[in-house]
Amino acid sequence: LQDRLGSILNNLTGRGALSEKDVSEAMREVRRALLEADVALEVVRGFTDRVREKAVGAEIVKSIKPGQMVVKLVHDELVALLGEEGVPIDLNAAAPVVIMMVGLQGSGKTTTSAKIAARMEKRDRKKVLMASLDTRRPAAQEQLRQLGEQTGVATLPVIDGQQPADIAARAVQAAKLGGHDVVILDTAGRTHIDEPLMAEMAEIKKRANPHEILLVADALTGQDAVNLARSFDERVGISGLVLTRMDGDGRGGAALSMRAVTGKPIKLIGTGEKMDALEEFHPRRVADRILGMGDIVSLVEKAAESFDADKAQVMAARMKAGKFDLNDLADQLGQMQKLGGMGGIMGMMPGMGKMKDQMSAAGMDDKTFARQLAIIGSMTKAERANPEVLKHSRKKRIAKGSGTDAAAINKLLKMHRQMADMMKAMGGKGKGGGMMRAAM
Ligand code: GDP
Ligand code: MG
Repeated sequence: LQDRLGSILNNLTGRGALSEKDVSEAMREVRRALLEADVALEVVRGFTDRVREKAVGAEIVKSIKPGQMVVKLVHDELVALLGEEGVPIDLNAAAPVVIMMVGLQGSGKTTTSAKIAARMEKRDRKKVLMASLDTRRPAAQEQLRQLGEQTGVATLPVIDGQQPADIAARAVQAAKLGGHDVVILDTAGRTHIDEPLMAEMAEIKKRANPHEILLVADALTGQDAVNLARSFDERVGISGLVLTRMDGDGRGGAALSMRAVTGKPIKLIGTGEKMDALEEFHPRRVADRILGMGDIVSLVEKAAESFDADKAQVMAARMKAGKFDLNDLADQLGQMQKLGGMGGIMGMMPGMGKMKDQMSAAGMDDKTFARQLAIIGSMTKAERANPEVLKHSRKKRIAKGSGTDAAAINKLLKMHRQMADMMKAMGGKGKGGGMMRAAM
């Protein structure tokens, strides 16, 4: 996928404003990336339409390629759509504050109930009571009781034969009497959404008057996510989402789908079976994961950060004057190392394709670069500024100093000459500003 995105972005060239064609091509790939991440089709459609509208005609920031511009717009829009970071569970209500957990069977309601309860007890010093309303599976109530025992959280004693809504009412009553701050109601799920489930949830809600209703969903939920979220929100009314199994391979497209159709915040994510595997939601991280191109985004940001504008101007002036000595080369190699080396840069940076071919043809890779930096480091200042003076005896000295041989030094000098020519050509056109700038 990254290759595909990379190649399409490489193709987006030209300056000024993003054209309709630029954007359409990129959007086709973005659309595919979203579908591969299991974002629901209708959400994908709405999303790409919105980004397309924003992107066409958007000014391209100087020194940034159109492809990068599209990546940034897509990423920004995804983060915005995924919503706020770290929205807490709201406990601002008269005690006992009731939290109702809803969702399909196996989504992680019981586990998450215990995780949240344990965290509230420990971190927030709240006294929590958990109650299982899952009367459909006998083992379910026992499962919650055991988790309560394990985490030191109180659970409502089970009374056989009681209906879910009655258990809910009893739990609230018990919490009042017991001086609990919070009641967590762990409801029963079904393998799929049906009317009896919705009716049961509505009835529990009526009796227990929950302050929060959290829909718990598996991050691997695919196209069903929309229907799931919409049904629960319309019929029961949810106040937030919890996404479980984010520790798995899924790209988490369900987060976007469910957030898009409900507009409700993703409050927490589950990242494992253990009781402490509960984390805040970070929209940027999830956006990266959904797009599967976090590397590009962070690389663009890193490049922008580490790129020294003043140095670049000096460099541009030197290049225009046809000057590119070994000091400049060392600067460039250092810059590249800072960005994670060739592997970190090539193939990901839009527009680097051509450069990469030229460079690998010249036998340039990370190991070579490290060796070359060592060679340049063993030269005198005068030698760096004027490599022509490097004759046999000097090369011998440098080879010894850098632990290389004459052949490696000759290779470096050849590469430098090639690059100097390349730079001169670019400088002559009035563009550029060092290898990185030229590549971007
Ligand atoms: P419920 O039917 O909705 O109550 O689901 P459970 O809480 O019983 O969870 C079903 C299974 O998923 C259990 O084996 C849990 O340990 C597991 N599980 C729940 N949350 C997570 C999570 O965030 N990551 C992983 N890997 N497993 C989880
Ligand atoms: Mg359960």
